[in-house]
Amino acid sequence: MYGEVIRTRVLTPHLMRVVLGGDGLAGFAAPQHADAYVNCFFLPAAARYGVPFEDAAVRELPREQRPYPRRITVRAWDESRRELTLDIAVHGDEGYAGRWAVAARPGDRLQMRGPAGGYRPDPDADSYLFVGDESALPAIAVCAESVPAGRPVQVVAEVHDGHDEIALDCPGELQVTWLHRSGVADPEHLLADVVAAMTLPAGVVSAFVHGEAAATRAVRRVLLADRLVDADDLSCSPYWRSGHDDEQWRAVKGAWVREVAAETFAAPAS
Ligand SMILES: Cc1cc2nc3c(=O)[nH]c(=O)nc-3n(C[C@H](O)[C@H](O)[C@H](O)COP(=O)(O)OP(=O)(O)OC[C@H]3O[C@@H](n4cnc5c(N)ncnc54)[C@H](O)[C@@H]3O)c2cc1C
Repeated sequence: MYGEVIRTRVLTPHLMRVVLGGDGLAGFAAPQHADAYVNCFFLPAAARYGVPFEDAAVRELPREQRPYPRRITVRAWDESRRELTLDIAVHGDEGYAGRWAVAARPGDRLQMRGPAGGYRPDPDADSYLFVGDESALPAIAVCAESVPAGRPVQVVAEVHDGHDEIALDCPGELQVTWLHRSGVADPEHLLADVVAAMTLPAGVVSAFVHGEAAATRAVRRVLLADRLVDADDLSCSPYWRSGHDDEQWRAVKGAWVREVAAETFAAPAS
């Protein structure tokens, strides 16, 4: 499956919107989750082939010619127009996904697999908490749009600075806290410190915490150790790891996820 770039839009200095369409998206399955993602295949400069390509054929090529897979959230899927919207974080001159998004022009093609996903806001929850950075903002935006009307929704989002804040639509009672990492020496605990100081409404909180690995781990600790959220109501996973590109991260991610899942917390002293 592949899409052709129809248009792009600079959402913020660090977030690029790319809308894909065309016959290559025929048969794209409507996403079933708020955090649905596609696995996108970005071609290196050394690639001597174009899109569409045969998976089996490129698998045989030398590493420097093989595509680089990156998971990107389905920000929107419009079945009637056959348009797939991806919002891709841009982080300087690094990364295949970010640089591709900046350079994307109408007609460019992107091969993908998916969609897959795992979380949707529990319609029976009493309130919602969505936490993350630019990589998770597309999923947080879909989550915010998917809650029942009138229900309390708290979003805590970490971005570079004030120019990176985006508008979120939500039928619930939305409260957004923006955190700026610019100028912060060690941003690992930015999100967790704010979440620790929050007052969450009584009842079931359906929580979605995704983004940089150490930051999401710190938020998870706060939520579970302080019994703010039940583990069954928490979706938490590391989308990327500071200091690692996606290949390096995927090589150690399984061990990291197991280590985090094994962390247990004694009940707080009453
Ligand atoms: C299920 C899932 C859904 C995701 N959805 C999205 C999405 O909708 N939009 C999105 O932008 N990302 C999303 N991500 C994260 C994205 O796949 C990774 O950030 C990926 O590493 C980006 O690839 P790249 O080629 O741009 O950079 P890479 O080549 O992987 O990395 C190059 C350098 O940039 C750093 N880096 C990677 N990502 C970021 C970042 N976000 N901010 C700052 N530095 C970074 C790396 O640590 C490395 O130093 C998702 C990840 C998962 C697992």
